[in-house]
Amino acid sequence: MMNEFPPSHPLWETAKSLDAKDPLRKFRQEFMIADPDEIYLNGNSLGRLPVRTVQRLERIIREQWGVWLIRGWDRDWLKLLSRVADKLAVIIGAHPGEVLLADSTSVNLYKLAIACLNIQRGKKVVITDELNFPSDLYILRAAVQQAQGNWRLQILSSEDGNTLPLEKIEKAITPEVGLVALSHVCFRSGFLHDISRLSEVIHQHGAMLLVDVSHSAGVVPLRLHDWKVDLAVGCTYKFLNGGPGSPAFLYVREDLAPLLDNPIPGWLGHENPFRFDLEYRPARGIGRFRVGTPPVLAMAAVEPALDLLLEAGQENAYHKAKGLTEFFLSLYDAFLRPRGFGLATPREPDRRGAQISLIHPEAWPISRAARDRKVVLDFRPPNLLRMGFAPLYNSYQELARAVEIFCQIVDSQSYRQYPEGVDGIP
Ligand SMILES: *Cc1c(COP(=O)(O)O)cnc(C)c1O
Repeated sequence: MMNEFPPSHPLWETAKSLDAKDPLRKFRQEFMIADPDEIYLNGNSLGRLPVRTVQRLERIIREQWGVWLIRGWDRDWLKLLSRVADKLAVIIGAHPGEVLLADSTSVNLYKLAIACLNIQRGKKVVITDELNFPSDLYILRAAVQQAQGNWRLQILSSEDGNTLPLEKIEKAITPEVGLVALSHVCFRSGFLHDISRLSEVIHQHGAMLLVDVSHSAGVVPLRLHDWKVDLAVGCTYKFLNGGPGSPAFLYVREDLAPLLDNPIPGWLGHENPFRFDLEYRPARGIGRFRVGTPPVLAMAAVEPALDLLLEAGQENAYHKAKGLTEFFLSLYDAFLRPRGFGLATPREPDRRGAQISLIHPEAWPISRAARDRKVVLDFRPPNLLRMGFAPLYNSYQELARAVEIFCQIVDSQSYRQYPEGVDGIP
């Protein structure tokens, strides 16, 4: 007999009391919740809309774009850019002046990877792993071809497809390695690399470290500067709630910026763009990684979202993210494991981000059935159900409700009415 999840089950009480004690409980109302019955577990793909972002954008469009026009740059927009960067610096553990918002994550990765390889003279190898995001792999492959020198990319394989022990990276690092480029939290399984230890190991061998923090910023403690991370990139539309296609960011440790050349030297990366010199001279600091005119409206949308996170308190956000994944694992053990679900995410709290990925051979139709029952999550081929838990707006009771719905879908086999896509891919 399968474990039932009736309303009398003690885990409902646990969920209730965890919510009641949650210091971040009141932040949910800061977000637009169009349908209170919908359980949104996709905050790791696109975060919810903060209510204050709506007011902010309305104002900036009407009063600033509409009235200020070109004067906007001097009145606030230039200040806005550095204000947002400084707030983000707090969140990722960087010093002021080490962070720039610009372009997309992919473009920033390209700029930093090429810049890094061009100063790592005499080295030959770039290391990454197969847990990395596809775009990152495509770009690193291009970077080894396009950078000066004779580079090749070594992609470390993961034995279980979900994790990669530090020792494996350590073993691969030879004096020929110039750059190790990894995702902090891996998008499929939620596995988290120990960046602080990696940084030590990598630097002992004269290599540089480039970390993609797209899936960790805002939900996992980040101390990029103290960990001596050389370079980092990330996006602001996932757990940072900056909105669809919001500007990405890059981090360059302050001592490195003057040594690195942007391979896309645009006019706004110039030391003095408004002199309109015909010769390019890079800005002294991280500003040299700016290319063209930043998207002011999109940038303005990021600020209130970061404010919310800073008001909530970083430690509170990490603690809640951990609490949510931990609680989900107790639900998993009680109800989902007995129903044939596997777990791709590590059980040790320090080895995962704010994410749980379940393995099930029918993951695709189950994800469709779940969406029809208002549980919004990701399917990742071939067999993963991926859920992100956003500490500012997800609740413990939502997780219990989601698991109750998974049980009903599996027990009733209602997922069988969803047609298979080609190769299980929608
Ligand atoms: C989401 C994500 C990206 C997205 O890249 P964009 O260029 O901003 O679309 C890149 N890398 C990782 C690891 C991601 O999780």
